[in-house]
Amino acid sequence: MSTDWVPGDVPPADEVTADFWDATREHRLTVQTCACGHRQHPPRALCTSCGATEALSQAASPGRGVVDAYTVVHRAPRPDLAVPYVVARVRLDEGVLLLSRLEGRHDPEAWSIGDAVGVAWADLPDGRALPFFLPTDPTEESR
Ligand SMILES: [Zn+2]
Repeated sequence: MSTDWVPGDVPPADEVTADFWDATREHRLTVQTCACGHRQHPPRALCTSCGATEALSQAASPGRGVVDAYTVVHRAPRPDLAVPYVVARVRLDEGVLLLSRLEGRHDPEAWSIGDAVGVAWADLPDGRALPFFLPTDPTEESR
């Protein structure tokens, strides 16, 4: 699968996001989880539910979810990006939202809210990887 859409300017990892990014090097999706049970994404310095700063860790995610919202982009923000492509908000089974990209369908207009998706990975030149999502419905034809 072509991943020539990967941007060259992905922000570097910092103190808060380092554990998330390290896991992407092994194509493992993780979701920041607080000792209070709250989950959030992207990683933050404190829990948005209880305010804790020391009780946060990255928990493994199976990377399954549904399309919560999406848009088909027809005008690329960069001249080297092939259009159309699909930008989506994916709701993981854990309940958090991820802004990502949908691939794996010939017709970008064939996506629908609620479609089941699973994570896949596009490698970055620095060894990290970006999550994107593919349809997981086994009955799906080449939509
Ligand atoms: Zn908390």
